[in-house]
Amino acid sequence: MRINRHKKVHKCLNFFSNNFGFRKPFQVLIDGTLCYSALKNKVNIQDQLKNYLGVDVKLLTTKCVILETEMLGKHLCGAMLIVKQFAVHQCGHDSKPVPGSVCFESMIADNNPNRYIIATQDRELQEIARSSPGTPVLYLHKKTPTLEQPSKRSIEVAQERSALSNGLTKFDAENISNLKEEFGVKELETKRKKKKKGGPNPLSCKKPNKQKIHTVQQQNFETGKKRRRRIRIPDHVKAELFNK
Ligand SMILES: [Zn+2]
Repeated sequence: MRINRHKKVHKCLNFFSNNFGFRKPFQVLIDGTLCYSALKNKVNIQDQLKNYLGVDVKLLTTKCVILETEMLGKHLCGAMLIVKQFAVHQCGHDSKPVPGSVCFESMIADNNPNRYIIATQDRELQEIARSSPGTPVLYLHKKTPTLEQPSKRSIEVAQERSALSNGLTKFDAENISNLKEEFGVKELETKRKKKKKGGPNPLSCKKPNKQKIHTVQQQNFETGKKRRRRIRIPDHVKAELFNK
């Protein structure tokens, strides 16, 4: 199970690296809701995320998020202490702070140019991040971090970009995508991808008969001996040799 999970995460990160230029260390933008959930479930965000993503990560937040957790008082005191441990990225709301979700929305506007992974438990913010192409969404499922598979919007934009690089216009790429959907080709493609490669299950196969192999080898050895030819020296040659 664990290997499968790592494969999924790796595949997802690869998608964002190949299509949207994400690079290590990945930047994770964390809000108060995730810190609150981490505290409730006794999760060390830094360690868990590093283990889960399998790469170095930069944990980040914004001034707006810190202010929001401060304003919510005692109830979010623990979350505030956690969120204050992270590096603060400039969000441009210094003069007029906004709620955390609005702040993050502005950070990923215009196709997430700074390549942030949005880490939040806020469903509405998750939905906003999904609609912004090239924005991975991460949340805690109880104690387990979960990186969502690329959103539909991210996949569409990635496909459009690869079509454009193959010499098609955006209009062509969209048309092809629509036609594929209409005729069920997309479904077929995903089904085909799911098919596993590899031979038969080695556990269900009959073991090779070692004794048989041994006897075959022995036979080969013996026949090899028999094949060795002796050179017969004619009698008159022998006589000549011995006489010398
Ligand atoms: Zn802000």
